Amino acid sequence: LVGGIAIMQDDDSEAAEILLTSRPSIHTVLFAETPVSGEYRTRGFQVLAGVPVTATECTEYGMRLKIDLEAAYFSARLANERQRLVSLIQEGERVCVMFAGVGPFAIALAEKAGIVIAGDINPGAVLLMEENIRLNRRHNVIPMLADACHLGGFLTAGSFDRIIMNLPMSPVPFFETAVSLVRPGGTIHLYAMQENEGEYREMIEAYPCTITGERQVRSYSAAQHHAVYDITRTGE
Ligand code: SAM
Repeated sequence: LVGGIAIMQDDDSEAAEILLTSRPSIHTVLFAETPVSGEYRTRGFQVLAGVPVTATECTEYGMRLKIDLEAAYFSARLANERQRLVSLIQEGERVCVMFAGVGPFAIALAEKAGIVIAGDINPGAVLLMEENIRLNRRHNVIPMLADACHLGGFLTAGSFDRIIMNLPMSPVPFFETAVSLVRPGGTIHLYAMQENEGEYREMIEAYPCTITGERQVRSYSAAQHHAVYDITRTGE
């Protein structure tokens, strides 16, 4: 369930109709025709029952989010992880969310941050993020249509207290940029899909960085899990 949308694992219209009538909050039942794929990390859907849309609104720990499952990535399963980061952040921090999607990390962290720079390469995601910033009355989030590999070209090196990197399928090409943007003593949260614990340790420790924590955020498939490394930038 995401907002008013139920996503079924099977292409079963009869079951979809039953699901639709079982809960008044559901307006649409979808079947995911493709896995999450491509640069924008989106999926293709077929409408099985209800209103033929892939857009809905959901609420997460008091934050309202407009989402469109076909236009931009969103996972409600990261809600607890977002709250973990909210509990870690200090008042007034400068935060950069490199792969911001429709804005859930950026808007949640903006409750305590001084400023949040939130970039995404998908124009559809950035449009929804702009709406979500307005909807939640955040005045300290700067949404940006940007390829994360260019952020180092116009943001000041060492100027961020915290960097969020949630592109778990391919974080490695962007890690150097994250290290350049965070101040010494600042934190990077690097998300990665991995089969075994510690798969990214060697890559991370090739930089002036110390890993302060590694945890499993959620299981992804029989073999892989979505992990997060909490990393402190060392050095001058
Ligand atoms: N942080 C968001 C969330 O948790 O809902 C979105 C995470 S989603 C796994 C990854 C996002 O990275 C997608 O929205 C995708 O469009 C974006 N993305 C992929 N490649 C990118 C790049 N080179 N620069 C910036 N954003 C990129």
